[in-house]
Amino acid sequence: MNYTDALKLLQNGNKQYVANKQSGDYSPAKRDELVKGQSPYAVIVTCSDSRVVPEAMFSAGLGELFVIRVAGNVIGEHELGSILYATKHCHTNLVVILGHTHCGAVHATIAGCNEDHIVSLTSMIKEAIGDEKDEIKASKINAAYGREKVKPEVGETVKVVSALFDIETGIVTFEE
Ligand SMILES: [Zn+2]
Repeated sequence: MNYTDALKLLQNGNKQYVANKQSGDYSPAKRDELVKGQSPYAVIVTCSDSRVVPEAMFSAGLGELFVIRVAGNVIGEHELGSILYATKHCHTNLVVILGHTHCGAVHATIAGCNEDHIVSLTSMIKEAIGDEKDEIKASKINAAYGREKVKPEVGETVKVVSALFDIETGIVTFEE
């Protein structure tokens, strides 16, 4: 599927979700159909936050989204490898780096957290946001930073966008 149609599907799916009319096929029949292979129309790189569920917010079912989750939706080697697997081998043409409001990882970065292992995330977020103290702005900057990091890796036929999920309204706002 081309990235324009894929983006429309995500936008329409999010409208359904916001209207509390989300859908998504998780039936045994769908499972059977997908045994032969997957061709997800979008890669979603997002946070591990339990309030951020890509399949729900985009009204998607089995086989539709290739989801990569890591706290703070940072883009490191594992994330890039996963993205490239999807774009090269599953022929997915749209990549979304999705941040969200009230992100604990962004909050921890602004607060200067450098705890064991968590610093592997906050140091990457710090690199993206610099001295930004506003959490919403910082989440947007962090996602945009990831977007720019991914762009040169995937080639020109793949569209990379960033987005912000508002955990209160459920609305996803996209940015190119
Ligand atoms: Zn988060």
